[in-house]
Amino acid sequence: MSLDEGHAHVVTFGRMHPILANFGRGLGDVVFPPICVQCRGMVSSDGEFRHVCAKCAAQFDYVRPPHCSTCGHPFYGIVEGERMCPHCEGLSAAFREGRTAVLLKGPGRGLVHELKYHRGLHVLADIEEIFRRVPHVLELARDATLVPVPLHPRKQRERGYNQSEMIAECLARAAGRKTIVSPLLRRVVDTVSQTHHDRRMRQSNLKNAFALVPGAVINAAQHYLLVDDVFTTGSTLNSCALALRRAGCLNLDVITFGHG
Ligand SMILES: [Zn+2]
Ligand SMILES: [Zn+2]
Repeated sequence: MSLDEGHAHVVTFGRMHPILANFGRGLGDVVFPPICVQCRGMVSSDGEFRHVCAKCAAQFDYVRPPHCSTCGHPFYGIVEGERMCPHCEGLSAAFREGRTAVLLKGPGRGLVHELKYHRGLHVLADIEEIFRRVPHVLELARDATLVPVPLHPRKQRERGYNQSEMIAECLARAAGRKTIVSPLLRRVVDTVSQTHHDRRMRQSNLKNAFALVPGAVINAAQHYLLVDDVFTTGSTLNSCALALRRAGCLNLDVITFGHG
């Protein structure tokens, strides 16, 4: 193909059919069409989300207080005194508090799956938009140093990125001010084959799975926040918390995008 032909091809691409151009928020929508992660329908360009249609967006289950102070799962109805949370009882948390943005179902689950399993970096704008809608999460994150839960290097090479780091970047942008992302931890044990083990076995294998990256320094006066995509048993987050505590971190909370 000559240079001229190549140029002509680009021009043709730019002059797409007017109907197609109307979906448009530029080239990004051609590469990643605005398809709803939940119902696979087209998402209109004047909606609040790029990859969740208006009908599905109404199904987001945002977490509002009151919620469990360890894992962030909402308590429904009237809360009287301390309450055991079925999602995290038995977890002796090495962090102070945990908060979460949405329940991991419907479109909330769709966004996480798109990001983790379909190379869906294009849904990050929607994840940031969700964070902007949960004041109790933003308030905890503001001015903190966000530490993403690391993937094992092998896993990160496979996926091409660490979804928790991407989510932490979204949260930092939404929280603003002096909130920063600092990948201080690395995963030293590959725990990929452990999903078949029971909880106690996983916890004991995870105990030393994380360490500080070489040269990282913890400032005992700083507020640190571990960030992960989802809260499930809390054992991975807790192992990360232990690694940070061992390194001298005193002021440590946890935020996850989804819970379930
Ligand atoms: Zn939809
Ligand atoms: Zn809980």
